[in-house]
Amino acid sequence: MTGSDKITVALAGNPNAGKTSVFNALTGARQHVGNYPGVTVEKKEGRAFIDDQEVHVVDLPGTYSLTAYSLEELVARDFIMGERPDVVIDVVDSSNLERNLYLAIQLLELGVPLVICLNMTDVAEQRGIHVDPEKLGQLLGAPVVPTVARGGKGMKELLKATVDLARPNPTWDPLKISYGPDVDRAIDELSDILQGSRPRRGLISPHWLAVKFLEGDPEILNTVDEESELGRKLFPLRKRLAHHILATTDDDPESIIADYRYGFIGGVCRQAVKAKIREHRLDTSDRIDRVLTNRLIGPLVLLLVLYGIYQFVFVVSETPVAWFGSFFSWLGSSVEAIIPDGMFQSLIVSGVIDGVGGVLGFVPLIMFMFFAVAFLEDSGYMARVAYMMDRLLRTFGLHGNSVMAMIVSGGIAGGCAVPGVMATRVLKDPKARLATILTVSMMNCGAKLPLYAVLVGAFFSGRRAEIMFALTLISWGIVLVAARILRWTALRGESAPFVMELPLYRLPTTKGLFIHTWDAPGSTSKRPAP
Ligand code: GDP
Ligand code: MG
Repeated sequence: MTGSDKITVALAGNPNAGKTSVFNALTGARQHVGNYPGVTVEKKEGRAFIDDQEVHVVDLPGTYSLTAYSLEELVARDFIMGERPDVVIDVVDSSNLERNLYLAIQLLELGVPLVICLNMTDVAEQRGIHVDPEKLGQLLGAPVVPTVARGGKGMKELLKATVDLARPNPTWDPLKISYGPDVDRAIDELSDILQGSRPRRGLISPHWLAVKFLEGDPEILNTVDEESELGRKLFPLRKRLAHHILATTDDDPESIIADYRYGFIGGVCRQAVKAKIREHRLDTSDRIDRVLTNRLIGPLVLLLVLYGIYQFVFVVSETPVAWFGSFFSWLGSSVEAIIPDGMFQSLIVSGVIDGVGGVLGFVPLIMFMFFAVAFLEDSGYMARVAYMMDRLLRTFGLHGNSVMAMIVSGGIAGGCAVPGVMATRVLKDPKARLATILTVSMMNCGAKLPLYAVLVGAFFSGRRAEIMFALTLISWGIVLVAARILRWTALRGESAPFVMELPLYRLPTTKGLFIHTWDAPGSTSKRPAP
């Protein structure tokens, strides 16, 4: 390639890693916006220059992964595989390296010539995270350029590394990582079969196709007819592996593959990242998780925690609830003394004061419930709850992250469906999201509590918390069944798998707890980091 030949570069990266900032810093005003053909995903293109070299830059949609589960991922992957840009620049957030590298690994597995733009190095340094670009580049086999896109720092170097990589017209060289003996053997068998009969010979590596096939990538599965000669060889292999993995690990090939990718990333980071403070906390988090998300102990702890919250909420709120009660009965008798007997007195005392008092009396209880949920959330435990509940909720057509909405709506009695519905925002899958929205109002919300409280008080006065707990479990059952029915009927369709993140555990701050209690938990959390 001569110096005047145009180089095409695609920008990939997780949402919020700084892709747009890099794009703007590289191209300045020389950009224009269109759509990817046939879909409503925005396509931004622009030109950059270094020395006399023109570089055509395409901003891909932000994605966390490169499977074909979302439109964005599919568009990004199709562009890379179909247009075959000379180089892909992966913009990674270095303050959040492990999560961001998941996409980088997938790009490397695809084999595309890759430059890693190690962005947000200022944020990382501030947090005491030091990434060694040299080492990272060595381990990944791709040039790594540290940048601060918001200040335009490192852009020249980024362009230079990109052009250097593109100049000798590089070949696609897929990264092969081990997925453990079982999966690796299946990959070898599959890629041997594919080697002989792949349709786009020379373009896409059979190894990559084999990995995707075992991962259950819908687009790749669809390219092979199960009844064809090839399909009759490939599909039984896939089934056999799935059976084996299920029998040995109680999991599916997809999760095993993802686990090994994260294991690979963990190994890379252990060598290339120096983060004194963070590393220590990561270790601690890992150690805590080994117990709290353990297959056996985890659910037990979860039930204990929920039960503990019941005791906390009901016992602690007893006193303020009683205060409210005596205040309103005092108010009632005072008003009775002032207003003469009759319809008007009855309206004010039994209607207004008793009515408002009956509802307001539960305010302390609701506040304590929200406080407890805020604590779960701020400490990082809620993410573990979502993680553990994911498998169960999926069988009902919901999603691990539905659990937050369910808990806030009254999964712990005394919640409210309004913040609950707001909390469904974190659900990416539209159908699981709608199913969650439509069912959470059946939870034990605060408005149902006064009624339950009267009934429980009348029939089971000695065991309030226990009976409330039982009523709540019944509500969960009803919500789950209703969701399952919805997903079988009006909201039929596959749900998209996605990465469950486990943020580090942290001790909640008093201030944070009060803010989240006041805002209603779930309505403000999980906003993308700035
Ligand atoms: P995109 O979603 O991937 O396109 O990311 P954006 O380019 O929109 O960036 C997300 C946010 O991060 C914006 O507020 C940027 O100003 C900011 N940002 C981007 N790069 C950097 C950086 O290197 N350092 C810092 N501190 N902020 C950055
Ligand atoms: Mg953007």
